[in-house]
Amino acid sequence: MPWMQGYPYYLVMGSVLSLYMGIGSFKHRHTPGRCYLWILMLLVSLIFAATAGEILSDSFQVKLWWKNLQQGPLFLSAIFTYVVIKEYVSRSSEGLAKRLIYFCIPVVLDVVLIFTDSYHHLMRSEVGLATVAGITGIAVKPTVLSMTLIAYDQLFGLYAVYLLAISLLNAPKYYFRRNLMLLFGLLIPVLSVFLLPLLKITITGFTAFTYLPPIVAAYLSLFRDPRLSLYPLAKNKIFENMKDGIVLTDRYDQIIDVNEAADAMLSELLEEKAETWRGRSIHLLLKRYGQLSDHYAKRIEGQFEIEPSGKDGACFGIALIATERTRAETTGMLMVFSDLSEKKRYERELLHQATVDDLTGLYNRRHFMRLVQNYSVQHGAGMALLLFDIDDFKLINDTYGHLAGDQALVDLSRKIMNVYQNNGISGRVGGEEFAVCFFAGSEAEALREAENFRATMGKHVVLLEEGYSIQLTVSIGIAFTERSDVTFEDLYREADEALYQSKAKGKNRVTLGRQPAVRQAVKG
Ligand code: GH3
Ligand code: MG
Ligand code: MG
Repeated sequence: MPWMQGYPYYLVMGSVLSLYMGIGSFKHRHTPGRCYLWILMLLVSLIFAATAGEILSDSFQVKLWWKNLQQGPLFLSAIFTYVVIKEYVSRSSEGLAKRLIYFCIPVVLDVVLIFTDSYHHLMRSEVGLATVAGITGIAVKPTVLSMTLIAYDQLFGLYAVYLLAISLLNAPKYYFRRNLMLLFGLLIPVLSVFLLPLLKITITGFTAFTYLPPIVAAYLSLFRDPRLSLYPLAKNKIFENMKDGIVLTDRYDQIIDVNEAADAMLSELLEEKAETWRGRSIHLLLKRYGQLSDHYAKRIEGQFEIEPSGKDGACFGIALIATERTRAETTGMLMVFSDLSEKKRYERELLHQATVDDLTGLYNRRHFMRLVQNYSVQHGAGMALLLFDIDDFKLINDTYGHLAGDQALVDLSRKIMNVYQNNGISGRVGGEEFAVCFFAGSEAEALREAENFRATMGKHVVLLEEGYSIQLTVSIGIAFTERSDVTFEDLYREADEALYQSKAKGKNRVTLGRQPAVRQAVKG
């Protein structure tokens, strides 16, 4: 067989290839399933090298030395194959290193016996030279002890095949291809133990070649083949399970990929139930939102918030990301959707709590002040501030109870809201003190307005739950200014003083603040 002339060199090449893969795998040794793989590759490299040494050396003694050198790596390979697979298919490799040491004890025993002249016969009953197809190597006759050790060793290979076959059934489908490749590779050395004698292949060192398929399969599937790499799979998993919606569009504005969250969000936004939006045009969405559409058309990245009409409180954040730029040309867009509805609802709730009085629903003192300050800045002259306080409110509390008092406050606040909803700002500035700010063409008009308000309140009857009815009166202080340089504090102080006057003069009346510094109009 002419091709057999190159046999020793195939062995050397096998050794170099295994060594190369072993060195290349070293840096991944901390990744689960990879830890022992690089050692396995080095062991296989050693098997090849020692076999080449056995064949290429001339003297019987040197050949035997090489042969003996093979024994350790040969036995260890099956055990390491098992730990590689065990680590690969298990969630945890805890305690595996310790077990590995125990598993290796018989192998050490085997090697020690082989290398010890006085015990060598325990492992081999006969040692001689054999030439098959022009290749001369050492032929041995194993003893029962040796056969037992071989059987022990083979069990590891068989168990590794079993573990991998089981994982093939249970693992997620995207691992299938990788595991199948590993399984085929692994079956070759395991089955060859039975097949080589059956096929009567007795060429020295042929076993070494049977270890190449599993390590090449492992190297390709676990390190090299990008399709089988863990990282895209992990990314895919993240993409599928993200709470944010991800939409990827191509240069023709077609949705080419979309995750589950985005499918749900698009269905909500577009009010159309669709199992998937993949393959549809993103313009279905864009045409509803002008600004988003503009940015998308120009492929400008940015953040947007959209509030779909007719969906109370719903709000979505959209991040536009250009996916690829080739010579200033962007081909597709990535859109990340996040449901901000809950966050917005919470913000609105917080804002409500911070600005609105719990009991009455009117603005609280702080917010009223802030609004009026802006109001006065905007409109300057012709502004009236009306402060009023319920007369003898303590008496209502004392007579009908605090809850009845509350009810009266709520009732009165509704009345204020009705009157000033569209033409002023109203707020609860104290326990039973309220304030309204409104525009008036003149001081007389403001006074008339205040008087009307007092009369309306006086006529208003509060019906209590218990069946009682009460009629409240209010005392009012009003400040009016047409000057733009009067501060809100000045106006408030004047209204407060006027209110005090109303109380002092017998309640249920209106008093206009008359400080010239506030009132005097600056006339052109
Ligand atoms: P005046 O005519 O001088 O204003 O007499 P008044 O009794 O209305 O005034 P005073 O300031 O002495 O009492 C105000 C009362 O308002 C005392 C307080 O218990 C009551 N009050 C303040 N806030 C609330 C509230 O939220 N609910 C109820 N039920 N009562 C309140
Ligand atoms: Mg009062
Ligand atoms: Mg009071």
